[in-house]
Amino acid sequence: MDFMPDAGLAAFREEVREFLRQNLPADLAGDLIGGLRTSRERFQRWQAILNSKGWGAPYWPKDHGGPGLSVMQRLVFDEEYVAAGAPPLDGFAQNLLGPVLNTFGTPEQKAEHRPHILSGTRLWCQGFSEPGSGSDLASLRTRAELDGDHYVVNGQKVWTSYAHVSDWIFLLVRTDAESKHAGISFLMVDMQTPGITVRPIVSIDDCHHLNEVFFDNVRVPVANRIGNEGDGWKLTKFLLNNEHAFTAELPRLKRYLKTLCKLAATLRADGSALIEQESFALKLARCEAELNALGILVSRVAGLEGDHSPAAHALGSMLKVRGTELQQRMTELLVDALGDRGAIAYPEAESANAAESLPGEEFARGLAAEMFFRRASTIYGGASEVQRGIIAKMLFQL
Ligand SMILES: Cc1cc2nc3c(=O)[nH]c(=O)nc-3n(C[C@H](O)[C@H](O)[C@H](O)COP(=O)(O)OP(=O)(O)OC[C@H]3O[C@@H](n4cnc5c(N)ncnc54)[C@H](O)[C@@H]3O)c2cc1C
Repeated sequence: MDFMPDAGLAAFREEVREFLRQNLPADLAGDLIGGLRTSRERFQRWQAILNSKGWGAPYWPKDHGGPGLSVMQRLVFDEEYVAAGAPPLDGFAQNLLGPVLNTFGTPEQKAEHRPHILSGTRLWCQGFSEPGSGSDLASLRTRAELDGDHYVVNGQKVWTSYAHVSDWIFLLVRTDAESKHAGISFLMVDMQTPGITVRPIVSIDDCHHLNEVFFDNVRVPVANRIGNEGDGWKLTKFLLNNEHAFTAELPRLKRYLKTLCKLAATLRADGSALIEQESFALKLARCEAELNALGILVSRVAGLEGDHSPAAHALGSMLKVRGTELQQRMTELLVDALGDRGAIAYPEAESANAAESLPGEEFARGLAAEMFFRRASTIYGGASEVQRGIIAKMLFQL
């Protein structure tokens, strides 16, 4: 897909490209593979560089401290950012909490948290899912009981990405046991508060991204609640309905395609380039065709910015389903293309040598772990079955 319908957009693409060329330190490039958060030191070093350009929160509007990019500009930014291999942003802070804080937060809450998000000095995680409450999120049971000017929080969250390296968590809690959706509230909690225990879950890629988080009489100031008591579900719907055009993760898919083309041209199987094998060439061609089709759908959804109709909602779900299925197929093909080299392990993101390439196998680094991690892409951010249910309901009134 070519995001160049006008000269202004082309100039913006060049500006982003040039900024990354000039400012992305060589030792930070390449961190994006694996879907990992990079180490705190590396993340903060890069975030400071981005912030000095006014891109500390590249997707935020101007009056919230962002550059005020249009949807098309944001898609271009993403594409160049991922293509350059720049370190992942704190998506939880920027894309999930950020719009809620900016829209519904009090002036005090904004003043307290925004500067830290822009400078990267406060990392965030998302405490929504619980054992037994994933797709049916509104059944959550972690409770918050009022005690003076504090809530006392008790319960458990699960699958909490990066809780072990985060400073704060935004949390859904039950403040009213009697009503389901209207009994949920939205809290921001300092991870250093006494009574919070984080336990690791090691995933199939042999990495530690995920955690269980336990709350045992955790005292949280009422001032840390966003919105009114019982507004948590309304804020969650706002949070989850944001940014439909981005759910396909098109830039990541384009990066996979580029690597696949590189491998197809350079790798040798039985003395021939992989691309000469008809079965591989067919699979690659199919991925490319599907990627192009997805690109057209993304531009269609981007044109619906601000449209909260059922059709726009359904298109976002379609992008999520198609994009994540393609992620899985393309990463499988990448590992296939590597043959024996596909089995190379991924170094822990936090380890000292995380950014170093493995001897002689630079192009293979992390691809197997990426393939394993992306098995979860059809689960996190709303499982495919649930997305299909949304499409059926919104588009076909089923
Ligand atoms: C890698 C990863 C990272 C994650 N990070 C976070 C995080 O940072 N914070 C956080 O809060 N959560 C996180 N999650 C949790 C994620 O949001 C949930 O796993 C997801 O919502 C599914 O919930 P569940 O695991 O409880 O499965 P369930 O909801 O129990 O679903 C089990 C199966 O039943 C199907 N199913 C459920 N309901 C329906 C339905 N109505 N119709 C048809 N089929 C249905 C599902 O599609 C699935 O196949 C993460 C998950 C993963 C895998």
